[in-house]
Amino acid sequence: MSKNILVIAEAKEGELRNVSFEAIALGKTLSEGGEVVATICGEGDLNSMAEELIKYGADRAVTVANAELKTYTPEGFTQAYKAVIDQESPDGIVMGHTSIGKDVTPKLASQLETGLISDVTEVEEGDDGFVFTRPIYSGKAFEKKVVTEGITFVTIRPNNIAALEKDDSRSGDVSSLDVDVQNIRTIIKEVIRKTSEGVDLSEAKVIVAGGRAVKGPEGFEPLQELADELGGAVGASRAACDAGYCDYSLQIGQTGKVVTPDLYIACGISGAIQHLAGMSNSKVIVAINKDPESNIFSIADYGLVGDIFEIVPKLTEEIRNMKV
Ligand code: FAD
Repeated sequence: MSKNILVIAEAKEGELRNVSFEAIALGKTLSEGGEVVATICGEGDLNSMAEELIKYGADRAVTVANAELKTYTPEGFTQAYKAVIDQESPDGIVMGHTSIGKDVTPKLASQLETGLISDVTEVEEGDDGFVFTRPIYSGKAFEKKVVTEGITFVTIRPNNIAALEKDDSRSGDVSSLDVDVQNIRTIIKEVIRKTSEGVDLSEAKVIVAGGRAVKGPEGFEPLQELADELGGAVGASRAACDAGYCDYSLQIGQTGKVVTPDLYIACGISGAIQHLAGMSNSKVIVAINKDPESNIFSIADYGLVGDIFEIVPKLTEEIRNMKV
């Protein structure tokens, strides 16, 4: 039976996040031929973003523009999305498992008195409907869930479900919804961006991560060069952050970011369980470590035993040569 699915899209600095397109792809699957409606909220003219969502597979889009939605606040965005949900009465809702997704979806689920399956990494068809897989215990195990009644409400981990190809010929209805956003108790005084310019770590397809072995902030420079060459981002272990070699916004792991790039290059990282919790689901893992007994090799697809200060510049050089 076809279903109507609402995709809650998200933008960062005026650009739609990739995970929104991935959510649309999942929305299409879950709809089984029904309608996929995408929604985006913010300030000012949101039409071009709405049209982009349609090009990535949504059938139509609903925008909620309001000066109160200029920056994220839990109360403001929850009110905006709840109003769209009330208008659309969807059978299913999909959103990215991002900082905002993690914050807003439990609030919405509680208002809707429905369940929420968060951090989904895989979806397949089963005898009792769609089966959603999600990691538990910091990625040490997976659980599979089905929805037996009510709204199918899921958040998806970025980089796990492939987005559809953009189709510039697609068009659809874009409507706006006026929402009287009120009682915002959160006052955003300033937004301080800590991550460096360039590729967003949580959505990067390639990550070059450095551990304690980088020895200092300058030790990250060859890693950044390799990441730049591969169009990726730089990440770090907690030991590297604790030592002050880089900003905490780069930390990957149980108490840092959870990432699933296509390629993860761990440079001088021992592979502590708390680090693995944030990266073990990466599609291909390359480890560079001078200790052949290092635990990182137990999960690596490719291992290079040696000094990062010798190997990383050589890798960068080889990749540069391949491009010429
Ligand atoms: P080390 O364990 O010191 O490893 C350094 C590695 O570099 C070694 O394997 C060594 O052989 C290798 N090496 C040294 N020099 C070179 C060289 N020149 N070339 C090649 N290899 C070299 N950690 C995280 O990363 N993320 C988290 O989110 C996180 N959360 C935590 C939460 C809790 C509650 C706790 C208790 C710990 C947490 N940790 C986390 C810390 C974690 O336990 C480890 O201490 C940390 O991951 C170790 O970082 P590391 O691998 O960079 O350093």
